[in-house]
Amino acid sequence: VGKQLYLGMDFGTSGARYALIDKEGNIHAEGKREYPLFMNKETADWLQSWKVTLFALLKDVPVSLRSTVVSISIDGTSATTIILDSKTGESFCKPFLYNESCPEALPSVKSIAPANHTVCSGSSTLCKLVSWWNSDNSTKESAVLLHQADWLLWLLHGKLGVSDYNNALKVGYDPEVESYPPWLLSQPYSRVLPSIQPPGTAICALKESIRTDYGFPKNCVICTGTTDSIAAFLAARANQPGKAVTSLGSTLAIKLLSTRRVEDARFGVYSHRLDDKWLVGGASNTGGAVLRQIFTDEQLEKLSEQINPAEPSPFDYYPLQGVGERFPVADPKMEPRLHPRPASDVEYLHGILESIACIEAKGYSLLKDLGATPVEEVFTAGGGSKNEKWIKIRERVLGLPVSKALQTEAAYGAALLAMKGAAE
Ligand code: ADP
Repeated sequence: VGKQLYLGMDFGTSGARYALIDKEGNIHAEGKREYPLFMNKETADWLQSWKVTLFALLKDVPVSLRSTVVSISIDGTSATTIILDSKTGESFCKPFLYNESCPEALPSVKSIAPANHTVCSGSSTLCKLVSWWNSDNSTKESAVLLHQADWLLWLLHGKLGVSDYNNALKVGYDPEVESYPPWLLSQPYSRVLPSIQPPGTAICALKESIRTDYGFPKNCVICTGTTDSIAAFLAARANQPGKAVTSLGSTLAIKLLSTRRVEDARFGVYSHRLDDKWLVGGASNTGGAVLRQIFTDEQLEKLSEQINPAEPSPFDYYPLQGVGERFPVADPKMEPRLHPRPASDVEYLHGILESIACIEAKGYSLLKDLGATPVEEVFTAGGGSKNEKWIKIRERVLGLPVSKALQTEAAYGAALLAMKGAAE
């Protein structure tokens, strides 16, 4: 066998990226594109924009490497929903974006779904489907629902109605029993739901026209994808139970690989399936956004240099941007606590970083109390991961090895899914 490479593409909130990797995980090429703006009847034409970006990224893959690409996978934003007419391949309406809410559908969804199910949120895929179903008067016979990643993959393989169980969680799919639940299947709109495969499953060959136009090989297969945040977790290769990724971006999010599925709606904790394991997640409102309100990124670096991470800070803060916290404490009325402010900015920053570390530790401890595999090692992603002193502080507070993740790009995680699909 000659050289074989795997192509992953990430369609995030602000742009798209690709990563081309080999069996050992080395990156052979990568790149990114902003979404171009297309207008359609005075609204942004997202489908056109994503489609153009998809083919732009395929063109960005160096010509000399294209003939070695044996598989492709894509991740997209979670709950971004497209409803297509399978007869024409045209969408019935503009796509519902990940953060769009359909509160009008919520009462109807709540009346059929179990209490606190993930679909019981106005922005869930199911609320979007119900909202469309109740408002669109066109014949719905030939409708099919796809998530953003499914739709982009469909442009490459041409088989309508295929998705993965990560994307499908918010439409109500139960990855544990591998089917849609009876309360969903009994609804008239259940016939538009896609069929579900594990992420990284080969669907079929890349369309011949694309293959020949771009110079991809005959054996190039298209594989099911996942959501952007799961792809980012996969990139860190935390693939044993007890391994976790803390994302220190504007907010703090933790994701832990567990042998047990745990859910608790009070804390917004739920689990995604990853083959025979569960990816348990929780997201706090604390995080880097608060740091940015107080310090510039340059100050953060300068001040951090002077922190002695071996020394515990005496300050006990709860840094929040606004009122309210969900995880690891569910309290919609919680007030930010950032006082007393010491005269020394170094001490102040030390106290804030340490307080965020304590919230992180509390998060992992809550997941354990809820029944997840105890955390053993933490990888770090996001803007805060470059802070070496913070990593040291967190090692002390968590009592665990903490390091910066080697790879954090979702496109890299999607490429790992492509590798998985090619191995089948
Ligand atoms: P987003 O969630 O917006 O994508 P990023 O992952 O880009 O966020 O991270 C940005 C955050 O990283 C900012 O809120 C900033 O406070 C934080 N940050 C940047 N530099 C540092 C640093 N040296 N130490 C700690 N935090 C930092």
